[in-house]
Amino acid sequence: MTSDTNKTTALVWFRRDLRVYDHPALTEACRNHKQVMGVYLHTPTQWDRHDVGNNHRWFLLEHLRDLRQSLDKLNIPLVVISRKLFSDSAEALVKLALKHDVSHLYLNGEWEVNELERDSACKAALEKEGIGFHKSNDQTIMLPGTITTNDGHYYKVFTPFRKAFIKAAQGFDFDPLPRPSRRKDNITISERDQGSIPKVKPDLKSEWTIGEAHARHALKAFVQKEIFDYKRYRDFPALDNTSRLSPYLAVGALSLRECFYEALRANDYSFEGVSEGAACWVSELIWREFYKHLMVGFPKVCKHRAFNADYSKIPWRSASKDFAAWCEGRTGYPLVDAAMKQLVQEGWMHNRLRMVVAMFLTKHLLIDWREGERFFARHLVDLDFSANNGGWQWSASTGADAAPYFRIFNPVRQSERFDPDGEFIRHYLPELASLSNKSIHAPSPMEATDLGYPQVITDHSFAVDRAKQTFRTAKEQQQYATEQAV
Ligand code: FAD
Repeated sequence: MTSDTNKTTALVWFRRDLRVYDHPALTEACRNHKQVMGVYLHTPTQWDRHDVGNNHRWFLLEHLRDLRQSLDKLNIPLVVISRKLFSDSAEALVKLALKHDVSHLYLNGEWEVNELERDSACKAALEKEGIGFHKSNDQTIMLPGTITTNDGHYYKVFTPFRKAFIKAAQGFDFDPLPRPSRRKDNITISERDQGSIPKVKPDLKSEWTIGEAHARHALKAFVQKEIFDYKRYRDFPALDNTSRLSPYLAVGALSLRECFYEALRANDYSFEGVSEGAACWVSELIWREFYKHLMVGFPKVCKHRAFNADYSKIPWRSASKDFAAWCEGRTGYPLVDAAMKQLVQEGWMHNRLRMVVAMFLTKHLLIDWREGERFFARHLVDLDFSANNGGWQWSASTGADAAPYFRIFNPVRQSERFDPDGEFIRHYLPELASLSNKSIHAPSPMEATDLGYPQVITDHSFAVDRAKQTFRTAKEQQQYATEQAV
């Protein structure tokens, strides 16, 4: 970049990086240009196509409001433009850039297939007008494609990926970038031209605090205390011992790098020992990274395809009543039902329970994981495509490094193990509150009738046998078909 750029205007395109701290694109724009403005393109029809639900939309748009205030303090105007689709982005950006004499666009890359296509189209359209296009990375720590096996392939298994990631991280600078300083004589844009930020219902403010400042504060509080017991308590939903930072990471109100930085600092800058809890939490962050790299290496997962071809032709049941019972928390399995209530009421579900309900849908009910993935997308505040897809394909046994199809969680055993006193169940299913700590995990048919709670939707042993048989046969048939094709 030449010193001439200092005399020109930069445009920073915010997407799922709604923050001012540790923001590579914003930092670079502010370093290189005197005048800086921001833009956000709101594309609700594209969200419809991606099954993005109102909880995530609400959380994201509220953070956009928060970002506008933060940028205002830096004397950087944020223009919000509404268009229908990603494919409308190039025209909107070029128009805005020409209007304000923008010389360079800065952005942090996104890695999903549609997002990559959108960004390529924007790059071409802007460069055609002589406008520079500068892409940084903030969605992952390491650039996808840089953590590979010895023969240059993307990892399909988490443990060696983690090992390679840690090795690569040895010389990596995790220090977050500071917030840029306030611009002096910046570009002025009228309030009308900045555009309004749409309001979306429902309002989940009673569940989720909005703001980058809150997210950073919550991270710091977590690494001072709960992180050290994370390994011991993270699987117990009633203890609420996980960070609950996923929604902030999903909209980029918090940077992934800052999470690594704080957790490593709490762990004496070690990925492994010192505090088992901190090391375990860092491993979860690496799972996030793993699923992002996997999505880039195997973009078929963005196209609703099973990662493992062996299970690409499971004859899933078409069972709308069973699906509705699962969605509404009426399966007769208290832990599953309580978890689904948590999701619908709060837009979030504890990780252990995500695995339990996803396995229940795909194994006990033999319903396609894509149905569950879509339902989650429509309700999760923390919706993140690669983590959601990775979690669903893991639970359905169709994914990379997934749970084997014959290892099926027993929802009653999971309940006895991870909610031993039924505290979580009692909170979300108050109709069962009077049951003993023993029977709350599996009310008898008579207890269920008395309390107005549904009978079990399917018998556990029957369902497990059916699932194993179905997966085994589908795998054999697929392998036979592959052999015949060779
Ligand atoms: P913590 O336990 O505090 O972990 C810290 C961070 O690590 C999380 O915020 C998250 O960013 C990351 N992380 C933790 N576990 C995982 C994991 N298994 N995979 C990927 N990243 C992980 N996570 C999402 O962020 N968005 C989703 O849409 C999503 N959908 C999921 C669907 C299913 C079926 C399953 C099984 C998991 C899904 N996860 C998803 C992963 C995980 O459940 C959540 O990240 C976690 O529950 C968030 O809570 P937390 O912030 O308290 O996590």
